Amino acid sequence: MKKFENFIAGEWKAPASGEYFENKNPADRKDIIGKFPLSTREEVNLAVGSAKRGFELWKKWPAPARGDVLRAVGDIMAKRKDEIADAMTREMGKPLTETRGDVQEGIDTAYYAASEGRRLFGKTVPSELRNKWAMSYRRPIGIAGLICPFNFPMAIPTWKMFPALVCGNAVIFKPAEDVPHTGALLVEILLEAGLPAEVIQLLHGNGETVGAAIVEHREIPLISFTGSTETGRIVGETCGRMHKRLSLEMGGKNAQIVMNDADLDLALEGALWGAFGTTGQRCTATSRLVLESGIHDRFLSMLSDRVTGLKLGDGRKEGTDIGPLINEASLQKVASYIDIGRGEKAELVCGGTRSAKLTEGNFFEPTIFANVKAGSRLEQEEIFGPVLSVIRVNGVDEAFAVNNDVKYGLSSSVYTTNVNTAFRAFSELDNGITYVNAPTIGAEAHLPFGGVKQTGNGHREGGWEVYEFYSETKVGYADFSGTLQRAQIDNYPGTPD
Ligand code: NAD
Repeated sequence: MKKFENFIAGEWKAPASGEYFENKNPADRKDIIGKFPLSTREEVNLAVGSAKRGFELWKKWPAPARGDVLRAVGDIMAKRKDEIADAMTREMGKPLTETRGDVQEGIDTAYYAASEGRRLFGKTVPSELRNKWAMSYRRPIGIAGLICPFNFPMAIPTWKMFPALVCGNAVIFKPAEDVPHTGALLVEILLEAGLPAEVIQLLHGNGETVGAAIVEHREIPLISFTGSTETGRIVGETCGRMHKRLSLEMGGKNAQIVMNDADLDLALEGALWGAFGTTGQRCTATSRLVLESGIHDRFLSMLSDRVTGLKLGDGRKEGTDIGPLINEASLQKVASYIDIGRGEKAELVCGGTRSAKLTEGNFFEPTIFANVKAGSRLEQEEIFGPVLSVIRVNGVDEAFAVNNDVKYGLSSSVYTTNVNTAFRAFSELDNGITYVNAPTIGAEAHLPFGGVKQTGNGHREGGWEVYEFYSETKVGYADFSGTLQRAQIDNYPGTPD
């Protein structure tokens, strides 16, 4: 069986511990993709030593030249799109159409980053004093520790890594345990594109060991984490104590609202894609469907008819609509919410069990619960699987209140033909992203992405905003008056005390 290695100090290296973990295909647990290193604190120390050298070199490259490397990365990814997607589906499970989309998001992010290398705008503003210039500009920070989840094995690492690199930082990258192969492919591509070797370090292994060691390392000033709110809290506590710059992208409990005036056929397609795409394992997945009373029964019956026809299976096979869950722990978590839903007297409309036929993988039937009460655990907690909770409401005020009454705030969606309801949604829904007449999923790489409340900590990935996270603003003043000019004193002579 193939043994994969870490990438540290410019070379591929076996783990110091000599220990590995197995990476299994979630659609067929007998299919082992390879063994990957269980890294330790020792490797983090080595990686930091190397990344410091990488940073010293890389920060001196002009930003447009750094951007050129990212453009080459995008070109290579575009050429290898199908092959990477296949490898990604094998280790992560979602159907090929989705993994191709995941690679495409990486390509889009690479090209955006390449062009950002020619901007990285600062501002030049007038000074309040004569013969003096004032301006702000951006400086790289140092080593960025990037900790990624399993559900977008390519897109999420690229959202973090490419802006970090264009801004002139070195990177230590830890992919999720379930998707290490895609992480390795991404690093190979960066090296092929001409990234100086010590600018990137790849460390595989467990979150509690190598992930925590990255977060706790005093010479890594910047951490970007995407994962569950529970893990994000642990990461946040450490970073707060150590005064680190931190971006957190965490859980969601996203709702699609369908009003009585909606185009129901359109809303149906949105609900199917939003709730069951990626087997419900998107941070933006629709896990709550809020139906206005007038269309509730009709829409629920349209939905359950379609859901029972969705084809569960291996994402690499033609015709598969829904792939497996990522691992056994996830299957058990989803199953536990079926018991919770039943205990809360929600009505199980369809699904609710592991697949009886597909026993070789982590397959769970797409599930709908109706009569779910606002405030119940089923309605409030992130399940991260193919389970949709339907809540009946009367009118727009109640619909919006249900949307907002959760601890998360990533995305929301409203299906309506009323322009006033649409614009009320933009202004009243407490989420980082609101879609009108589109599902809760579907972010584009050139717009800021992230959530409010316990989904995030105020930063955004994607688009222009993320470049501020990965660079430090510095201000420069140049006084060419030849005299001491005291700000706020010499420019306001005679102002009474
Ligand atoms: P997770 O929290 O289990 O793991 C995420 C990463 O953190 C992994 O690489 C893991 O190894 C690492 N980790 C675990 N413990 C750690 C520790 N103590 N210190 C440092 N690192 C540690 O999440 P997951 O199961 O991979 O992903 C699913 C979760 O991610 C869901 O909650 C989902 O909503 C969220 N997510 C959020 C976004 C977003 O942008 N808001 C995007 C994708 C996924």
